[in-house]
Amino acid sequence: MSTTRTDSDTPQYRGRFAPSPTGPLHAGSLVAALASFLDARHQGGSWALRIDDLDPPRQVDGSIELITAALQAHGLEWDGPMTYQSLESDRYEHALSQLEQSGWLFRCRCTRATLSAQGACGQGCADRELAADEPHSLRVRFDGEHPHEFDDRFLGPQVLDSEAIPCDFIVKRRDGLYAYQLAAAVGDAQPQFNAIVRGADLLESTYRQRWLQHVLGLEPPHYAHVPVVSDERGNKLSKQTGAAALNMAFAEQNLRGALSHLDQAPPPESVRSASDILEHAIEHWSFPSGA
Ligand code: GLU
Repeated sequence: MSTTRTDSDTPQYRGRFAPSPTGPLHAGSLVAALASFLDARHQGGSWALRIDDLDPPRQVDGSIELITAALQAHGLEWDGPMTYQSLESDRYEHALSQLEQSGWLFRCRCTRATLSAQGACGQGCADRELAADEPHSLRVRFDGEHPHEFDDRFLGPQVLDSEAIPCDFIVKRRDGLYAYQLAAAVGDAQPQFNAIVRGADLLESTYRQRWLQHVLGLEPPHYAHVPVVSDERGNKLSKQTGAAALNMAFAEQNLRGALSHLDQAPPPESVRSASDILEHAIEHWSFPSGA
C-alpha cells in the first residue's frame, strides 16, 4: 500500500489488531499490536480492535479486560468501538452457503484419529454423501488452481508450497463453532480493513484466508507479516504456552523492547513516556528492509 498522510486519492488505511481472549497480552502480542498500530498511524490511518472470541472453550475469563488495559497502558488507543468475531454469525453463515453453492464445501466425519498427518481429511469424505445428522465438520477443498501468491509488504513476494499445506481445511468445526480461517477471511476483507499487519506465524493462514476471499468474491486486504518473538528454546511466545503477561509498570521498557524486535530506530533516552515513545516511533516507522 502506498497511502500517506497527504495522498487523498488512495483509500484511507484501515488496519486492526485482533487478539484472541485466551490470556493477557505478552511480549509477542505487543509486537503484533505495535506493528499494526504504527503502520496505521504512520499512514494517517485508522486502527481497530477486534476480539477473536470464536472459541469459548479456550477463552479465559477476564482476558478481554486484561488485554484492553494493557493496550491502554502502552498508549495503544484504538478507534471506534471494539468489535467481536462472535457477533458476526450471519456473515459466516452467508459465506458457508456461498461455499456450498459453489461446490467447495463438504461434510467431513473425520476425528483426530482419522485425519492425515497434515491434518487433512483422511477418509475421502469429499467424495461421499454424508447425512446431515451424522456428526461432522465442514471443510473446503483447498484448490490448487487459483493463484496462491501474494506480495507481503514486509516479507516480499510469497508463493504457496502446495506440498507443505493440507489439501482441505475446516471452516466449521464438529462442535458447531466457526473456524478462525472463515471468520478472519470474512472479517478482514475490504472495505472493512485494507491492511493487515500480524505475526509471521499466521503466514500459512493467509493463503487459506486469501483463497476463501477469492472464492467468496471478497477483496483481500494487503498483508504484512512481522517476526514473532520466541522464547529461549526457539518456541513462539504464546498465551497457550503460558507466556508471561506484560508488566504494565514497565510500559516504556516493553515498548522499547518491541521496537527493537521490529528493528526500529530507538527513541532517544530523553523520550520517556509511552505516548512520546509512540509519537517518535510513528514518525520513524518503516518495515525493515532486506527481510
Ligand atoms: N486472533 C488470532 C491470534 O491472536 C489471529 C490474529 C490475526 O489474524 O491477526 O492469533
